[in-house]
Amino acid sequence: MNNNFEDPYSVAVKQLKRVIDYLGLDEYVFDMLKTPERVIQVKVPVKMDNGKTAVFIGWRSQHNSALGPYKGGVRYHPNVTMNEVMALSMWMTWKTALLGLPYGGGKGGIKVDPRKLSHRELQELSRNYFAALSKFVGIDLDIPAPDVYTDSQVMAWFIDEYYKVTGYNIYGVVTSKPTLLGGMYTRIISTGLGVAITAREAAKRLIGGIRDLKVAIQGFGNVGSYAAKFLSEWGAKIIAVSDSKGGVYSEKGLDVEKLFQVKRDKGSVIYYGDAKRISNEELLTLDTDILIPAALENVITERNAPQIKAKVIAEGANGPTTPKADEILHERGIYVIPDILANAGGVTMSWIEWANNRMGNWLTEEEARRKLEEKMISAFNEHYSYWSRKKDIDPRTAAQALAVEKVVEAMKLRGWI
Ligand code: NAD
Repeated sequence: MNNNFEDPYSVAVKQLKRVIDYLGLDEYVFDMLKTPERVIQVKVPVKMDNGKTAVFIGWRSQHNSALGPYKGGVRYHPNVTMNEVMALSMWMTWKTALLGLPYGGGKGGIKVDPRKLSHRELQELSRNYFAALSKFVGIDLDIPAPDVYTDSQVMAWFIDEYYKVTGYNIYGVVTSKPTLLGGMYTRIISTGLGVAITAREAAKRLIGGIRDLKVAIQGFGNVGSYAAKFLSEWGAKIIAVSDSKGGVYSEKGLDVEKLFQVKRDKGSVIYYGDAKRISNEELLTLDTDILIPAALENVITERNAPQIKAKVIAEGANGPTTPKADEILHERGIYVIPDILANAGGVTMSWIEWANNRMGNWLTEEEARRKLEEKMISAFNEHYSYWSRKKDIDPRTAAQALAVEKVVEAMKLRGWI
């Protein structure tokens, strides 16, 4: 599925160049935005359980801070590279700008396979990474969060290490924490809810409403499962879902509560029963109104884009559509809600959590959820009307153009350009 690999940083720079040209901005604006403001590389030694010291390499890329402190996750993965982290930090700048959050873009990573570490080794790795970064992060400077193979426990260690090194006991230095340390339960549902909201709003504009529409979802993990739950609560019919083992399809619709139960009890949605078994590839080209890729990158390609029947694609996953497929979908009139908008519910909830921490944990979960819904709807509306006015560009380029315009305006106001 991932044989369309292209260095993510070169993709991010190419996308930026296209937007700069489209907006008619000067070359020096491109120069200002193509490289991160700062990339910190840190050495992370860990005393392993066998008594030997292993040394890991980590990074934090701080792409742009014109709109506020850097914001973005930290991933632990054996394939992490500095270029990947730099690209992801640039996409975070566009995502936070598009959502109107008071943040810039950042991203971090350590080249490590955390599944091979013991709990103690993982804690030491996390603490040493954050200690090495402690001068460069902070509630008003750079606010990390979990990403691939990091979680709320890692965030709790980050908070504690920050306290030890700086003397400041501050919850808001990271987000997606355990609820006892200033996190919010709503975080679990937030990305899936955001995907569902943007799909619903697009359906209202383009198809006349969400009720009885057919929805196919690739990936029944955190994002896909909650997108399915909310869309079915709003009257849509979930006709197909899948996970790494394969998919299930039913023309009359699948019962989402049962899908959760089967996934929990048996480990895969394929044991649902009373539905046709399909492959992940078949799911993408089903006769459906809405398609939600919520698993991997590069799954919608020039090969299958001509066969896609959905009218709306909501990108739950990051980067599920290749640039060539984007062109084909745009020509065919299929509306793609780009990942930086569709899956921004997570970072939006992080902003609410961070603001809540600053207020001494004032908000209720209902208030947090209401705020999330409000913010996602207004970001969708702003993007949709911007794209509708332009029309000559695809929705992804429109989203990035809108974000770049905001960042450039902030850089002007600050006197950077
Ligand atoms: P997850 O690990 O909870 O779920 C991933 C799902 O994809 C699982 O159901 C898994 O079985 C399935 N999957 C794995 N390989 C597959 C394959 N080859 N074919 C089909 N399905 C496969 O992950 P998640 O948190 O739901 O994230 C999914 C995507 O959304 C990722 O691209 C992630 O970067 C993106 N994302 C997640 C969040 C978040 O808050 N969780 C926020 C923004 C973006």
